Formats: sequence, C-alpha cells, structure tokens
Amino acid sequence: MIKIKAIKAFTDNYIWLVTTNEGSLVIDPGESKPVIDYLKNEDIFLDNILITHHHFDHTGGLSGLIKHNKNISVIGPNNHIEEIKTRVKGDDCINVIGLEFIVISVPGHTLDHIAFYCENGGDPILFCGDTMFAGGCGRIFEGTYDQMYKSLMKLKNLPSNTKVYCAHEYTEQNLNFANCVEPLNKDIVARLKKVSNQRELNKITLPSSIGEELKTNPFLRCDKKNIRESIFNKYNIEGNDTEIFEAVRNWKDTF
Ligand SMILES: [Zn+2]
Repeated sequence: MIKIKAIKAFTDNYIWLVTTNEGSLVIDPGESKPVIDYLKNEDIFLDNILITHHHFDHTGGLSGLIKHNKNISVIGPNNHIEEIKTRVKGDDCINVIGLEFIVISVPGHTLDHIAFYCENGGDPILFCGDTMFAGGCGRIFEGTYDQMYKSLMKLKNLPSNTKVYCAHEYTEQNLNFANCVEPLNKDIVARLKKVSNQRELNKITLPSSIGEELKTNPFLRCDKKNIRESIFNKYNIEGNDTEIFEAVRNWKDTF
C-alpha cells in the first residue's frame, strides 16, 4: 500500500514523502526541518532520498537529513551535489521501497534534471521536479528551448492516468496564464475555478494527472490551433512546435 504526502517547505515548495510497507523516501528535500518534524510526528523512519536536480530549494535539506540517518540512501543525477551517493541517468531502473522507478532524462530547466516514473504501485506516478508544473513548466535556466520541449514531450507521452507530483504550488498562476493564452478553452476555465477555490482555502492543488495537463497546460499544447493563433496574434510568429513553445515560454516569463 503506497501513501504519498506533501510536506511544505519555503513558501511554495512541496517535498513528497512516499511510504510503502517496505520503507520510506522523500523527493527533493530543500529543507530538513519540516521533514524531520513530520517524520517525528508520524513515527516514520526515513530510508531514502531521491533528487531531481541540483537547485538549492531541492537539495538544501540533504546534509540535515544525513546527520539524522548516516546510512540514508541518496539517489540523484550526475552533478556537483556531493551528498548524492548513487548517480542515475535516463532509462536507468531503480528499485526503492518496492517501487520500480524508471529514470527519465528531462534537461531544460537544468541540464542535470531527471524525473522518476513508477507504475508498479497502483496508478502510475511521476515525480518531475521543476520540469512540468500543474498548468505550466519550469523556466529554462541551463538548457535550450528544444531540449525543454523534447523533455516535456517525453512526459506528455506517459499514460494519461499518471499522477503528476511536481515540486511547487504554482497551479493558480499557471492557469491564469493558460487562460490568457487560450481564452476559449473551457477545461482551463473550469480548472482555474476549481484551483482558485482550493487556494482560497489554502489547500494543495496537486497531484495533477497527465490527462488533465494535456487538456489545460499550454506548454503541452503548442501543436493546437488555438495556441498557434494566439502566438501569431501576439508576436506575429508562425513556426514549428518548438518555436511556438519558445514564444509561449517567453510570454509566460513576462506575464
Ligand atoms: Zn529548480
């Protein structure tokens, strides 16, 4: 039986805690204190950490958690973060607490970025860090637009019932933007209404699903007529899907 819980960190980060009858893991602990407090409260012993990319708000809690359990396993990409003990790359398969994760290489936000996909724990699950958000995608800091677009296409092709666990609560802002890019998309309007209500009550809007993202995330919809028209009207750009993606990403950066 798999349980997944969000632990809040900083202002809008989520550290995902996964437990099965074989143990526990967290993904992207940007801070150690909220994790340690939660574990203590729930009487959970933490065995494993997965890291998606090197940014501090995803790795800053490593040293604190290692101090707590010197034998903890830390799995992540090949980068400069010394605390990562097991380095993995795209297409690797790892078994952690009875869950088989396929590593997906998703460069763009950073060059080292990886995502973890698992389908042996019930509904498929995806931990995608800062690559895809509910209704949006990460900023492109290190990679190219082409790399990021190809990374998002890999995630887009996962089964539509895949539950998407991203690392930030950005859904409402993202859907406000999506609504501006595609004002006639009723799925976006309906989702924005639902999400705004959730946020008013300070509720989490995650996980999302690939199916939901396909209908409402503009970055997965760059091949759609509505978005191509919107980009043509705003920037006078016509082009291939990657060029449309670049224009949508630049629009979002100044939104
Ligand atoms: Zn990041």
